[in-house]
Amino acid sequence: MKRNKFPLTGISSVALHTVKENADFSHLTPIYATSTFSFDTTDEGAARFASADKTKIYSRWGNPTFTAAEKTIEALESFGLTNENGESIKLKALLHSSGQAAMTTLFLSNLKAGDTVLSHYALYGGTYELIHKVLADAGIKTIIADIRDLNILENAIKQNPSIKLIHIETPANPTINCIDIEAVTTIAKKYNIIVSVDNTFATPYLQQPFKYGVDFVLHSTTKFLNGHGTSIGGVLIGKDNEYMHTKVWKWHVLLGGNTSPFDAFLLINGMKTLELRMDKHCSNAMKVADFLQQHNKVEKVNYVGLTSHSDHLTAKKQMKQFGSLMSFELKGGIMEAKKFMDALQMCTQATSFGNVDTLISHPASTSHMSVAKEERLKFGITDGLIRLSVGIENIEDILNDFEQALKAL
Ligand SMILES: *Cc1c(COP(=O)(O)O)cnc(C)c1O
Repeated sequence: MKRNKFPLTGISSVALHTVKENADFSHLTPIYATSTFSFDTTDEGAARFASADKTKIYSRWGNPTFTAAEKTIEALESFGLTNENGESIKLKALLHSSGQAAMTTLFLSNLKAGDTVLSHYALYGGTYELIHKVLADAGIKTIIADIRDLNILENAIKQNPSIKLIHIETPANPTINCIDIEAVTTIAKKYNIIVSVDNTFATPYLQQPFKYGVDFVLHSTTKFLNGHGTSIGGVLIGKDNEYMHTKVWKWHVLLGGNTSPFDAFLLINGMKTLELRMDKHCSNAMKVADFLQQHNKVEKVNYVGLTSHSDHLTAKKQMKQFGSLMSFELKGGIMEAKKFMDALQMCTQATSFGNVDTLISHPASTSHMSVAKEERLKFGITDGLIRLSVGIENIEDILNDFEQALKAL
């Protein structure tokens, strides 16, 4: 297989050309739909078990289709990044069956009973529940604080020596709050605390947390990386390759969070157009945010691309563009929100985001239903808040749909 000897200059090329080798001259990565792999001799079996490469033994442990997706994600997250010695950084990704499974491996391989996680408001609903229910039952405590304020962050660390890990989601939906990854990591490193970043929302095209020295990045690949809404998936990426290949891999395998070869194939396919899709998502979202902000029936728009958003400068510092997600409130609250959503003709009502088409949802009654109302309100998730994942349709059609639905109010 021919390979480029010159460095690739952009992430579309990286997404398309990181993985080339495969058996039988297949142009695309084959779907290795197999639970297990054969050995010609007992010695060969023993050698494969003893080898550092565990991808051709049993598919819960690894599978060549997973490896192709993992290598592409490693290349995307590390693209253009170098270490203190000026060498390209090398990452290790582990593909999972879902974002939740990747997060479970992250937390359980790094934390034990008696440890504490420090995190912030406006987390993904599943993350919030995982740390408050599953981790709590396992004896792992969580502190939630507004760590955008670095004094609050450092005081929480000083007062709680059991904090082992700081988990950041930035931007975080549905209020699109951002955390300064560099500032938090700088403080965390002073106290030897691990930092993990949920980069689902931004994708490696818009934001590369490893640039700031974080230890782990995770994605729900269900969203923008797959991009087409064809499967659930997740990935956990670490910069300590040795630790990823040993403890983290072991916990992943024992927890049983492996994905399927078909889902990995769909993900590989989706990632090929990441840059093209994100450029369109972002430019459409900016236009929708401007439209909503100027509309007289709209009370408030949370889009981090707007200078009116409290975290606009943080986003500008660490993101290439501002993403496709926003939330907004209509004058008249929940009644008007429901009427508006039901009047849309083209945009789809559904939970999830990051699909090529525009999705709209009502967090209070869906994704954040399990978060108590007082808690939800602290995060800014009011009863009337509408969340929008702007798709790559022609912008005129998105705006026309919004215009006609707002007229119906
Ligand atoms: C969707 C999502 C998750 C959970 O991922 P699943 O693939 O649904 O398990 C975690 N974090 C964020 C930010 C998400 O949007």
